Amino acid sequence: MNTISRFFPAIFMIVSVMFLSSCDDGKVNLFTIEDDIAMGEQFTAEILANPEEYPVLDPALHPEAYAYVNRMRDEILASEEIRYREEFAWDVYIIDQDVFNAFAIPGGTTFYYTGLIKFLDNEASLAGVMAHEIAHADRRHSTKRLTSIYGIQILTSLLLGNNPGLIEQILADLAVTSSALAFSRQDEFEADEFAVRYLYPTETDARGVAYFFEKIDAEPSPGWMVYFSTHPPDDERITAIHEIHQELGGDEGNVFETRYQDFKNLLP
Ligand SMILES: [Zn+2]
Repeated sequence: MNTISRFFPAIFMIVSVMFLSSCDDGKVNLFTIEDDIAMGEQFTAEILANPEEYPVLDPALHPEAYAYVNRMRDEILASEEIRYREEFAWDVYIIDQDVFNAFAIPGGTTFYYTGLIKFLDNEASLAGVMAHEIAHADRRHSTKRLTSIYGIQILTSLLLGNNPGLIEQILADLAVTSSALAFSRQDEFEADEFAVRYLYPTETDARGVAYFFEKIDAEPSPGWMVYFSTHPPDDERITAIHEIHQELGGDEGNVFETRYQDFKNLLP
């Protein structure tokens, strides 16, 4: 077998995998929906098994607090813009730590630190953050980014057989403390845009992410660096959120301050 014919099937496979995996937004994702789900399940299990690093509030012990965030999530997931409503898990977890952050993992599960929840003034702000995280998962930003980082390595593994260390490497890189997988600016704008789109049909004011940024601008704190290691700040994002909101019709919605205060009082 000469060199060209030996490599031809490999080249063909690379081309066909890339072609088949192209999404309608033009970004290539070599992972399947099932990969997102499996990766998310594994990552969630690792987080829940590590209460020292991730002191997750037990839903069984805090049913009212979880009922509140799950109701918020269900209102967002009712949007027609959600692609994987049925396929993904969409579990929500609260982590009891004074950290200003929230994050999504592949497969739809999202996490919110009590430090962030307590900092926010109203439900619209948390709904904005939640819708933003849901957008990262539903638009599959993590596995698209992994594709761009590991594309050749993954393809090599596919062609040569399993690479048992690869999935561990990927999971290590997906660790929330790692900025190696920080989303791109384009991903952040997309997550902001879809957050407004998801929330617009609900009773809740759809500009929550902008309110959140405006509050950060007004009350700068070193703690925000944690959030900004994975979510770069940008005044242009505030402007873009208000513009999309206007394009959709500019309805005001409710910020739900009182019931958000009641929710905060349920937290430890
Ligand atoms: Zn983000």
